[in-house]
Amino acid sequence: MATAVAGPEIERLIQLLARLPGLGPRSARRAALHLIKKREALMTPLSAALQVAIDKIQVCKTCGNIDTQNPCTVCTDPRRDPSIIVVVADVADLWALERAGATRGKYHVLGGVLSPLDGVGPKDLNLARLAERVREEGVREVILAVNATVDGQTTAHYITDLLQEANVKVTRLAHGVPVGGELDYLDEGTLSAAMRQRTLF
Ligand SMILES: [Zn+2]
Repeated sequence: MATAVAGPEIERLIQLLARLPGLGPRSARRAALHLIKKREALMTPLSAALQVAIDKIQVCKTCGNIDTQNPCTVCTDPRRDPSIIVVVADVADLWALERAGATRGKYHVLGGVLSPLDGVGPKDLNLARLAERVREEGVREVILAVNATVDGQTTAHYITDLLQEANVKVTRLAHGVPVGGELDYLDEGTLSAAMRQRTLF
């Protein structure tokens, strides 16, 4: 075990920062030192912002998004098209699609994907509420924007079955060549999916 270079309070700060995604012990030390040096300009406002977030953050009862209001900002935005629901596994995916400005539809956050190996079943996900929304909100299209992994696709199939009786179009994101991608670098699965899902030029 390495010798501590600072008091327990600072060591604790470093240990907590090191648990953040993308921060190893080394960058956690750097981040802690940066915070300590910028105590007034950064550390104090960060601490206050964390406390406000702790007090105000809630899970949206309608869509499962995380926000400081309930229903969330997305659900209450009148400019969104209520006839389209984009289904995502996680809030991070919702944020990614919003950054891309990819859709003006509403969202539904599942809170994960089905994973028999990890013991995640339908009851562990926000699925019942999705079926309810499709029935009650006049939804015409459900877009499955889940990962192109085995678990993601299992989840997509499950939702397609779940909504079979509902009068709704179920679509999924295209699989294929990424924008700026080079064919030579793509794996065979991606290439053959791109070939199958080719579109008119
Ligand atoms: Zn919401």
